[in-house]
Amino acid sequence: MAGATGTTGTGTTATDGGTRTPPVPLTAPPPQAGPLETARAQLASAVGILGLDAGTAEMLGTSRREINVSVPLRRDDGTVELLRGYRVQHNISRGPGKGGLRYAASVDLDEVRALAMWMTWKCALVQLPYGGAKGGVTIDPRAHSAAELERVTRRYTSELMAVIGPEKDIMAPDVGTDERTMAWIMDTYSVNMGFTIPAVVTGKPVDIGGSLGRATATSRGVVHAARAALAEEGVDLREVSAVVQGFGKVGSHATRFLAEAGTRVVAVSDQFGAVHAADGLDVGALARHVAREGTVVGFDGGDPVDRDTVLALDADLLVPAAVEGVLDESAARTVKARWVVEGANGPTTAGGDRVLAERGVTVVPDILANAGGVVVSYFEWVQANQAYWWTEEEIEQRLERRMLEAYADVARTARAEGLTLRDAALTIGVRRVADAHHIRGLYP
Ligand code: GLU
Repeated sequence: MAGATGTTGTGTTATDGGTRTPPVPLTAPPPQAGPLETARAQLASAVGILGLDAGTAEMLGTSRREINVSVPLRRDDGTVELLRGYRVQHNISRGPGKGGLRYAASVDLDEVRALAMWMTWKCALVQLPYGGAKGGVTIDPRAHSAAELERVTRRYTSELMAVIGPEKDIMAPDVGTDERTMAWIMDTYSVNMGFTIPAVVTGKPVDIGGSLGRATATSRGVVHAARAALAEEGVDLREVSAVVQGFGKVGSHATRFLAEAGTRVVAVSDQFGAVHAADGLDVGALARHVAREGTVVGFDGGDPVDRDTVLALDADLLVPAAVEGVLDESAARTVKARWVVEGANGPTTAGGDRVLAERGVTVVPDILANAGGVVVSYFEWVQANQAYWWTEEEIEQRLERRMLEAYADVARTARAEGLTLRDAALTIGVRRVADAHHIRGLYP
C-alpha cells in the first residue's frame, strides 16, 4: 500500500471553529501517555509494519472531521450549566462513521479522537462497511437527573443534525450512555427530519427497532475472543480463573457469560471498589447485590479489596472492561494473568503493551475482543434499513461467526508475520482503510 493517498485527503473540517487537527507526530508516547498518544503509537507501529508512506500515515492519524459544540443545560433548579460536546469522524472512507457516545466529566477532544480512531480499525477488522467515529459530552451522568440528561442529549443531537444520519454517522451507547439515550437521539433526529428514522442510532430499545442481543453483544464477543485465545494453547474456559475489572455494560455481562462457560471468576471491581474470593464468586448473587446497591462494594460473598489492586490478582485471565490507560508500564509489570482480553477500549498503553509482550502475556486487543458490540450494531442497522428483524438465535450465531472469523484472521497474520495479536489486528484494520483510500483515489 505504499504510495497511497486518499480520496478523502488529510483535510479536517471543524464546523464551528475552523481549527484543524494538529499534524500527527507518529512517535513513541511520552511517559504519561493519554489515549491519543496510545492510539498514535499503535498506528505508528502498524504503519511501520505495512511500510506506508508518510502522507498516508499522516492522513490515517488525522480525523476527517471534528465537531466541537457548546451544550447549554438548564438544570432542574433553573440554573444554566455549559457543557462541551464533541463528535469526531475519524475516517469515512469505507462507509458512514460509526461509534459510541460517551458521557463522562473527564471527556476531552483528544480522548474522543483516540476512541474514534480505534472504531475505524475495529470496523475494518471485523469487515463492517463503516468508518470510525465517536462522541462525548463533559457530563457526570450520575450527578444529573434523567430529565437533565434528556435535555442534554436532545440539545447535543440538535447541534449535530447536519452531520449525523443512517448514511453519515451512526451513534451507539458507550460509557455513561445507554439505550434510553439512544431513544432520545432517535426521537430528536426523527422529529427534526419529519419521519421516523430508526437507523440513525444503534443500541436503542428493542421496542423501537433495537436488535435482540445488542445489549449483551460486547460481552458475548469478549467471551468468544477469550475462548478462541485459550483454545490456541489447548485450554478451555472451564479450566481457568478470571478477574474482571469494571462492572458496567461490558464487565457485568462478561462476568456472567464467563461463569456460564465454567470459568471461576475470582474478583470483580467497579469505580467504587472490588471483591475477591479465591474459590470463585457466586456471580448470580453478586448480580443481585449490584442491582440492589448499584456497586459491587458490600457484597458479602467475598473479601473487599482495593479497586486498583485487581489487575495484579492471581488469575489466568484478566478482562479490563472499564476505561483507557489502566495497564500502563508499571501496572503491566504486576499482571499475573497469562491472557489479557480487552473488553474496554484502550485499556493498555503502548508501554504497558511492551511490558506484557516481554513477559509473555497474550493480549487479545480491544479492536478484536470488544468488537461484538459494533458487530451487532451493524446487524441492528441492517435490520432497521430493511425493516425486518432477526431472531435472537440468528443474531447470536452471526455474532459468534464474525468474532471467530476475525480472531482466526488475526491469529493467522500474527503467526505468519511474527506479530503480537495487537499488531496483527491493527495491521489488518489499517491496511483495509489504506486500501480503500488507494482504490478510491484522491479527489480532485
Ligand atoms: N461503544 C462501543 C464500542 O466502543 C459500540 C460502538 C457501536 O456499536 O457503534 O465499540
